[in-house]
Amino acid sequence: MTREFHQPVDAAKVPRFAGHSSFMRLPVVENAKDLDIALVGIPWDGGTTNRAGARHGPREVRNQSSLMRRAHHVTGIQPFSVANVADVGDLAVNPIDLQASLASIEAGIRAIVDEGAIPLSVGGDHLITLPILRAVFRGRKLGLIHFDAHSDTNDRYFGDNLYTHGTPFRRAIEEGLLDPSRIVQIGIRGSIYETGEHDWARAQGVRIIYMEEFVQRGAEAVIEEARQIVGGGPTYVTFDIDSIDPSMAPGTGTPEIGGFTTREAQQMVRLLGDIAIVGADVVEVAPPFDVGNVTALAGATMLFELLCMVAGQVAGRRL
Ligand code: MN
Ligand code: MN
Repeated sequence: MTREFHQPVDAAKVPRFAGHSSFMRLPVVENAKDLDIALVGIPWDGGTTNRAGARHGPREVRNQSSLMRRAHHVTGIQPFSVANVADVGDLAVNPIDLQASLASIEAGIRAIVDEGAIPLSVGGDHLITLPILRAVFRGRKLGLIHFDAHSDTNDRYFGDNLYTHGTPFRRAIEEGLLDPSRIVQIGIRGSIYETGEHDWARAQGVRIIYMEEFVQRGAEAVIEEARQIVGGGPTYVTFDIDSIDPSMAPGTGTPEIGGFTTREAQQMVRLLGDIAIVGADVVEVAPPFDVGNVTALAGATMLFELLCMVAGQVAGRRL
């Protein structure tokens, strides 16, 4: 029996700027039933320590994702032909209650995973990845490929606050959700609070690839190493838009100069290949700081890159 997959609105019939916006112009559905991949918005930035605004990310990424077409021009993957994909809307969040939002995000992602779908989330600040990891964990420690200017493994902020967008991966390691020896962080740069800031992560076994090393070795060598680090086990991919240089992605809360070009970011995701992805996200797009929507476009395009990669894996598993 051939399955019917959801299809984007045909841009040859309805122009890209018309109609309601949804991720990739796909139907917005109630839940992840029968989906292979669920595109989900998480409009919450209550973990932000500096410039807020990523709560507006999902709406603007939806808007810019109307520019995505049906096929990947390099890999030839046509995600909507090989996988059932839809926009499942935004998760319920509470802008003034951090713990309630974390619980709600975890429950929302769990509902997607329980239907057998892979969640591709759009944030939101980087703290949203912690409840996502809690939901996709399912008893097996995960590997992590983390693109970011920041390690996000600090301990606490403003006194004893353990939950901010600067701490999610420390908490995830402490909670046993991640296998630190299968974590690789790529693109880390910028000033730090103290010289030993990354020592804790390294002591756990996290591999930190600073931007300077990336520039020296290039995308192929770095991603080949990342693939070795995560190996064949279940792996999550998280893409902080501030890994891209602020000249190309200014709309973010904690910009750091000296970042990836959008082209390097695309190339790296394409090189990930057949790692066993259990979910992915694009976070920290903050439209209030954007210029001409270029950051939201970068976010939407990285979401398309991730979608094509995951769709290729879904198709491969079905064969
Ligand atoms: Mn981050
Ligand atoms: Mn960052």
